[in-house]
Amino acid sequence: STGLMQGKRGLIMGLANDKSIAWGIAKTLAEHGAEIAFSYQGEALKKRVEPLIASIGMDEMVECDVSNEESMDALFARLEQKWGKIDFLVHAIGFSDKAELRGRYVDTSRANFAMTMDISVYSFTAVARRAAAMMNHGGSLLTLTYYGAEKVMPHYNVMGLAKAALEASVKYIAEDLGKDGIRCNAISAGPIKTLAASGIGDFRYIMKWNELNSPLRRNVDQEEVGKAALYLLSDLGSGTTGENLHVDAGYHVVGMKAVDAPDI
Ligand code: NAD
Repeated sequence: STGLMQGKRGLIMGLANDKSIAWGIAKTLAEHGAEIAFSYQGEALKKRVEPLIASIGMDEMVECDVSNEESMDALFARLEQKWGKIDFLVHAIGFSDKAELRGRYVDTSRANFAMTMDISVYSFTAVARRAAAMMNHGGSLLTLTYYGAEKVMPHYNVMGLAKAALEASVKYIAEDLGKDGIRCNAISAGPIKTLAASGIGDFRYIMKWNELNSPLRRNVDQEEVGKAALYLLSDLGSGTTGENLHVDAGYHVVGMKAVDAPDI
């Protein structure tokens, strides 16, 4: 441990199981001294999340559905009561109807478009505002995004639009809160096998393609996202805000299929 997160307290939202990106981040932050509270969606997840967070010495967990304002108010009221101030927030939440994460983007329904934007984009703004109200100078906010915001990726569809809007919101939030010494950044993670990812059509093909064509010729894992989060949430990242940090084995710089990549 470096002690980089020693004395820092914060909230991680979006832990569903031990494959979650939120879990890779949680383990890394805890290892470096952070004290972490967790929010999870729905009582069904409670039994899975409880032993996980206990294994890293944490016990604070609050149910929170980000589509519900009262639910978010209750979460932050609980944190306020427990700690008064927080130092960091991790938003690792996204959702869209899986029926629309295949086929054509152009067929997206109005209802799922609105719901995807609400849960995957607005929720970050909604929690950023509440978290910032509890932060001192040096606070840091982080969300998770994907390259499908920047370029068309197969099946990512409406989620690509949501991530594009999320990335834009990171920049606006960085400006709004920068005057108070609060930073706001995103990590653009390469494809990782998680519960949310399993809803995306041909996800195994996407992972294989990234493995064969990224500069590092492999995929990344949850722990590598955790290490980047440690940088952005600790004092190491003190000069960085409004950034979209790619943790994708370099895939975002590639212009075409690698010459040594076999056909898949
Ligand atoms: P995951 O399924 O482990 O996490 C998604 C989380 O979102 C779950 O904990 C789920 O409970 C939560 N969630 C969904 N709707 C919610 C709601 N209404 N209220 C509260 N929570 C809600 O999957 P993950 O891949 O770890 O996803 C975390 C983040 O990382 C997402 O934003 C995802 O888009 C992003 N991301 C994932 C990948 C990947 O390949 N897995 C790549 C880049 C970015």
